[in-house]
Amino acid sequence: MTNVQETLVLVKPDGVARNLSGEILRRIEAKGYSLVDIKLVQAERTLLAEHYAEHAGKPFFEPLVEFMESGSILALRVAGDRVIEGFRALAGTTDPTTAAPGTIRGDLGRDWGLKVQQNLVHGSDSPESAARELALWFA
Ligand code: GDP
Ligand code: MG
Repeated sequence: MTNVQETLVLVKPDGVARNLSGEILRRIEAKGYSLVDIKLVQAERTLLAEHYAEHAGKPFFEPLVEFMESGSILALRVAGDRVIEGFRALAGTTDPTTAAPGTIRGDLGRDWGLKVQQNLVHGSDSPESAARELALWFA
């Protein structure tokens, strides 16, 4: 039985600035997922604060929002069978230094001086998050 879902993927400002958007798109498409919508955005603070509402008050919240405001973000609506979980697997774990080789973060990211936030991509972590985040970014 199939379980076709949609998820929000963001290529964060470090990924766009390092010209890795194509490589990240290539990996998503090579896995068999489909692009439904795509746009390059300069995100407003209010959008970012809503997007990362679960992290409000944490020590990394402010640097994270500043980083996400620092350049263009490529926002993607991606569809596929179990794509929410599947894209998280493609992305790898949060810290790019220890993310597994073979993943986007593991292959292409590293620790740029304790800046864990520069980990190239975001992917929704549940069906509820995906619905909420897609409504925010693709209103
Ligand atoms: P994700 O779901 O793997 O993206 O990770 P989280 O939801 O836990 O955190 C959201 C984002 O905040 C991460 O992707 C990182 O960009 C950033 N982040 C998480 N933990 C830290 C941290 O300890 N320090 C810093 N500087 N950034 C962090
Ligand atoms: Mg998260």
